[in-house]
Amino acid sequence: MHTPLTEIYLDCNATTPLLPAAREAALQAMQAQFGNPSSSHCTGLRARALVDDVRARASRLLGVGAGRLLFVSGATEGIQTAVLSALCALRERRDAGERVEGPLLVGATEHKAVPQSLAHWNRVLGLNLPVVEVPVDCHGLHDMAFLRAHVATAGLLCTMAANNETGVVSDIAGIEAALVACGSRALWLVDCVQALGKLDLNLQASRIDYAPFSGHKLYAPKGIGMLYVREGSPFTPLMVGGGQEAGQRSGTENMSGIAALGAVLEALEAGHGEKAAVFRSTAFLQQARLRLADALLQAFPGLVFNMPFEGSLPTTLNFSVPGLSSKALLNLFDAAGMRISAGSACSAAKAEPSFVLCAMGLPAWQAEGAARLSVGALTDDTMIDEACARILRCGEALQHTNNAAPVLPFSPMPAAPCPADHDMTLTASSLPAFLQSHPHALLVDVREAFEHAVGQHTLPWPAQALCNVPLARLGQHLPAWLDEGRRPLVFFCRSGGRSLQAVQALRAHGHGQAWHLAGGLALAEMA
Ligand code: PLP
Repeated sequence: MHTPLTEIYLDCNATTPLLPAAREAALQAMQAQFGNPSSSHCTGLRARALVDDVRARASRLLGVGAGRLLFVSGATEGIQTAVLSALCALRERRDAGERVEGPLLVGATEHKAVPQSLAHWNRVLGLNLPVVEVPVDCHGLHDMAFLRAHVATAGLLCTMAANNETGVVSDIAGIEAALVACGSRALWLVDCVQALGKLDLNLQASRIDYAPFSGHKLYAPKGIGMLYVREGSPFTPLMVGGGQEAGQRSGTENMSGIAALGAVLEALEAGHGEKAAVFRSTAFLQQARLRLADALLQAFPGLVFNMPFEGSLPTTLNFSVPGLSSKALLNLFDAAGMRISAGSACSAAKAEPSFVLCAMGLPAWQAEGAARLSVGALTDDTMIDEACARILRCGEALQHTNNAAPVLPFSPMPAAPCPADHDMTLTASSLPAFLQSHPHALLVDVREAFEHAVGQHTLPWPAQALCNVPLARLGQHLPAWLDEGRRPLVFFCRSGGRSLQAVQALRAHGHGQAWHLAGGLALAEMA
């Protein structure tokens, strides 16, 4: 019988699910408190009270003091607003006759949103100041000697509180000391996205000018974030219009997002000490990470971690396994129902080495083969137990399938024109009817043998109608399939990418009865 595999979500640095209380708060805001906070009737006043309440809570929690705290759509918007504000101020200083030539400094391991915004606004505003990367050492920490040498004349400094790929926590106090020691006038942006809920923040006590946050990294929905701006730091709105957020960020407020974020902040404010605590303590998360790390080391001989355990977020593991690409690791974990990430989520679609690990000077194989496992602050022992068990199963599947027959190269030689893609395509909803009308159809899993081995018990189809022929071994089976003539073949894989290649190759060789499952197991499991 088909037993669906429960998903173990281990990609919380990319995004998190919703906190149940956040979902409730969002629904409440859409139903009972649906008003526009700019309206002066009672419905509007109730909505306004909600916005004020969440802002007050966030301000307490982050130590905003007399600074501003704006609701924005997410960290990318917060970063744009901060960069625009800083660069407009530099341009004003230059227009007023001041010499503004210093570099715009940006940490080498920043999320792409930061260097891309810098390059964009530097160009759009016609400033054309030099953008200089601050290198990091092999532990991912900023090169303080480099920083001290360049920060005195810098116009803007962009660093992150914690890195999204490695979890490395920056030495924010050390950077601040370097800024203060030389009397630098540089504006300072600290990307606090991965720090929220994981590190203690008291922004008013620091020299930080701008700090963006994102709700969806901490169990609130996508589309809501915050930007802190220090009292007196330059500010230019990115969006103007109806004058919401005191004219600092126009556009009707994302009320359900704000309400949901409020519920998350409430849980954070409650802390870890009490029985009712929602989020786990650092000590619990550190212990959980150690257990996961042990399971990984046991499952994958030769595995190395790409980040220091000291001085990194207790929720993040970044590792490489000799001889395995990050794509292979992601596929293997995915087949076992565990969602991890190959490098950063944004670059997961591209097979490029991690620029973060390259900047840390790690060997090429580590940067090319890196995988990231990140748990969230809601994790519990049951989930960690199950994740460790599955990690061990992944290791076993890999060992047992490593002795598979050598791969013969398969070169698709088009013998017949391919039909249009849609003629070769089945979907999760059309497949059952297809299998009923083609009872002899053979389902061919074109994933690697280790992926098939670890996930075959959970496939939603009977085993007798199913076989595993990894894409690279298709050529070995082609003569038999062509001989068999008309037996319908349905190729499938995780996402539909490899199965599409398979069906195209079969059709090109003149096999007229080949289909593939568009969207792959990912959508079939959902259906
Ligand atoms: N900064 C860091 C460190 C991140 O991890 C992310 C998200 O991946 C962002 C910025 C962008 O956040 P958002 O998705 O809210 O725009």
